[in-house]
Amino acid sequence: MGATLQTGHGGLELPAFLPDATRGVIRTLDWGDAQGCGVSGICVNTFHLQNRPGATVIAAAGGIHGFTGWSGPVLSDSGGFQVFSLLQGDPNLGSVTARGFVYRAARGGRKVVFTPEKCIHQQFRIGADAIVCLDHCVWAGLDAGTQRQAVENTVRWARRCRDAYEVEAANSRRRPLLFAVVQGGNRLDLRRECAERLAEVGFDGYGFGGWPVDAGGQLVEAVDTMARYLPRGSCLWGLGIGKPEHVVAAARMGYGLFDCVIPTRDARHGRLYVSAHPFDGRRLRGRDFYRRVYILDLKHVRADVPLDPHCDCACCTRHSLAYLHHLYAIREPAGHRLGTVHNLRFYARMMQALKDEAA
Ligand SMILES: [Zn+2]
Repeated sequence: MGATLQTGHGGLELPAFLPDATRGVIRTLDWGDAQGCGVSGICVNTFHLQNRPGATVIAAAGGIHGFTGWSGPVLSDSGGFQVFSLLQGDPNLGSVTARGFVYRAARGGRKVVFTPEKCIHQQFRIGADAIVCLDHCVWAGLDAGTQRQAVENTVRWARRCRDAYEVEAANSRRRPLLFAVVQGGNRLDLRRECAERLAEVGFDGYGFGGWPVDAGGQLVEAVDTMARYLPRGSCLWGLGIGKPEHVVAAARMGYGLFDCVIPTRDARHGRLYVSAHPFDGRRLRGRDFYRRVYILDLKHVRADVPLDPHCDCACCTRHSLAYLHHLYAIREPAGHRLGTVHNLRFYARMMQALKDEAA
């Protein structure tokens, strides 16, 4: 912790939480709102962007920064997890081979071959500052043979992504950061092996692949295992780690990057994060440093107090809990915007507290 990750669009002070701008937008916000919350970077989704508006449209606009107008660091994911999810939903849509994924986005649709090389090519066209190798994700609880196969594919594909990266970098004269993803499910021996083999190839950083949280809502041991078996100082990305207490725990294990839909999606569903005490100079403890407020709860109808008295966001400094409740009750988009602003500010304050703790 305490490090800065240098990107083509400025440095990211770590640990950093990057909201998901899946389709090139943080839903309900504009970039001014995001900057006002202290958002230092965003994470976009390759799978969704290449479907719409298409990588060609984004490349023609000079890449994701030119297309969206966001001037800070952008991370893109590989899109592999979305293909995996698609095939889980309907195995008849395609399969995983040693070459990559072969799938149709819908039954009767066009057949798509999604290889490591294509994955890197598409991410170069989108033009993010940090890109991710294609990996083979499987459910954490599957048998050892399946996990072994996923690790073999993941390592082989990461090597091919590394080679494809050098070709793309030479053609485009850009060198985004390249992250590999560690698989292995909950088998700690496989997690360790996958981490060590990927570290041998050498990447700018490493992401945690698969499911970071178990059925009981606890961070799985594999999250710590991955951190322990990668070279000291590696940039670790806690892909999908997003609950406040999980972000805090993983940051203390050495993870520096986080992206998750939780704060923005929860805001749109009226679940808001409220700090239990001012964060400045205090150690964040377990789940006790915050509580969740359900804004539609009728007890807020006359609450003439800020949502979070410790928060300095545009919502808490101007509006009462009662007004925010009213906006949600009438399904006013401005309410969703204010809730999203608040939740992202809560996360930014939490990340600042973790930086202060490490300093
Ligand atoms: Zn606030």
